[in-house]
Amino acid sequence: MAKPLLMLLWLITSSILVVSEGQSGTLSVLQAPTEVAIRLARDPQSLSEGSTDFGHIIHKHPVAIMNPASTSDISVLIKFSNSLDIPFSVAARGEAHSVNGQSMAFGGVVVNMSCFRNNNGGSSSSGGIFVTEKTAAPGDYVDVGGGQRWIDVLHETMKRGLSPRSWTDYLYLTVGGTLSNAGISGQTFRFGPQIQNVYELDVVTGKGEEVTCSREINSDLFYAVLGGLGQFGIITRARIALGPAPTRVKWLRLLYNDFSVLSADQERLISMNESVEKNIPNYVEGSLLLNQSSMDLSFYPQTDRPRITSLVHQNGIVYVLELAEYYTNDSQTTIDKEVEELISGLKFVASFNFEKDVSYEEFLDRVHTDELVLRPQGLWDLPHPWLNMFVPKSRITDFNEGVFKGILLKQNISTGVVLVYPVNGNKWDDRMSAMIPSEDVFYVVSLLHTSRFDEVEAYQKLNQMVLQFCAESGIQIKQYLPLNMTRKQWVDHFGAKWSLFEQRKAQYDPKRILSPGQGIFNVNNK
Ligand code: FAD
Repeated sequence: MAKPLLMLLWLITSSILVVSEGQSGTLSVLQAPTEVAIRLARDPQSLSEGSTDFGHIIHKHPVAIMNPASTSDISVLIKFSNSLDIPFSVAARGEAHSVNGQSMAFGGVVVNMSCFRNNNGGSSSSGGIFVTEKTAAPGDYVDVGGGQRWIDVLHETMKRGLSPRSWTDYLYLTVGGTLSNAGISGQTFRFGPQIQNVYELDVVTGKGEEVTCSREINSDLFYAVLGGLGQFGIITRARIALGPAPTRVKWLRLLYNDFSVLSADQERLISMNESVEKNIPNYVEGSLLLNQSSMDLSFYPQTDRPRITSLVHQNGIVYVLELAEYYTNDSQTTIDKEVEELISGLKFVASFNFEKDVSYEEFLDRVHTDELVLRPQGLWDLPHPWLNMFVPKSRITDFNEGVFKGILLKQNISTGVVLVYPVNGNKWDDRMSAMIPSEDVFYVVSLLHTSRFDEVEAYQKLNQMVLQFCAESGIQIKQYLPLNMTRKQWVDHFGAKWSLFEQRKAQYDPKRILSPGQGIFNVNNK
């Protein structure tokens, strides 16, 4: 029997089974047109994958996983759902590196965007990666399928000596997934988040329409989708700005025992203007070393670890400024002098500056290097009750006192990686859906906890304490990758943009089909 026919027969039989379980969405999904039905998988392994993410906290079961062969398959699926009296939900799944079920679709269909990965060499609408032929100049770009991972984009563009300019810390995330949030890292202060570095998108809207959009055409959809948490359409192609790729990186960590000294130095670095100062950093981040048993000192030379540990013991918290200066073979002779000049005015604890010289790819792919160490120990696939926030610059000192010193340091559980670094608000476009505080400079603060399965609740309580402290102290944070918000909290999150966000939902996804796992419009899904 032909494979599609077999699959259809299997789908029909399993629908009887599931309907008897009382899931009302099941039958409707299984009545999909044949061209869609043959793309649906309902085997236990696929369903289990579709109800899991990097958080390992939420599990919501879809009725089926779609493995689309083309963007029009996605369009037909969404149009079919729209045609029903009770539509089923649809969620694009990039790599499911969300931590709170955002890429799940309870009782609906999860669209496996990784299907398009092997299409390099086809047409740009088939989801591959296509770099323009021009040499490095303003205007160079790469056309990338929405399901492509940033690591593959890096490899393809580097073959032409080009590279995207704005990154995330980890590259095994998908283009559609990060563009639905913002996509931030140490380059954001200079080039803006990844959503700022997009020229054009192909989107399948929540009505199933296939639309190309940019700042010039269908601009409202373009701005809606960027940072839009998957609410308005599924990104099937993105045109991403490129610049020349460097070859190597001076990667530095400087240690501070005083938060206000660290933040003054960070703010000075991100305020540097490339048209005035010739030597400005390519990347600025920061993190904490807390006096806890699980300090990660792997970056530092073995011989220096004892003195770093004793600095942390003395101070309780040591603050780390992380910097990168890119260079090419041409600038090999001058780079050391440039780095020396760059750090000469910085007020880190004397002699606590550390440097590595690595390839550009090694630098960008640094978190994957950690993943390769953690995975075999079973430490990568543990729950991740993360909390990510943007904190206004005017209150970051209070945040340090109340959260870093007041809450994190006093807890009896290991906090894992804690990031803190400032970015420039003027590098964000307010017409996009992503939300940031209203100050010129704000801090990215990420509490990247890794938890045992029996500790999740304790971490969630810790996160609640942090949010409560901010609320009670009047620190107007915005959550990044927001989680577990009530309707009122979502309205507050979007503030003056809420009515536009709601209007856009009514326009592009009137039946509220897309990305229910975000819990914005489909609260019952959470
Ligand atoms: P998924 O988790 O699969 O999806 C995220 C949301 O977007 C879901 O609602 C989904 O339905 C929707 N979606 C997915 N694909 C599409 C599409 N093509 N079109 C429309 N909607 C879509 N983020 C940063 O900004 N900076 C970082 O430095 C950073 N570091 C990280 C490090 C690690 C180890 C991990 C696990 C995550 C990190 N993230 C970071 C978070 C990351 O940006 C989010 O997890 C994001 O959701 C991307 O993951 P994903 O591609 O797997 O998307």
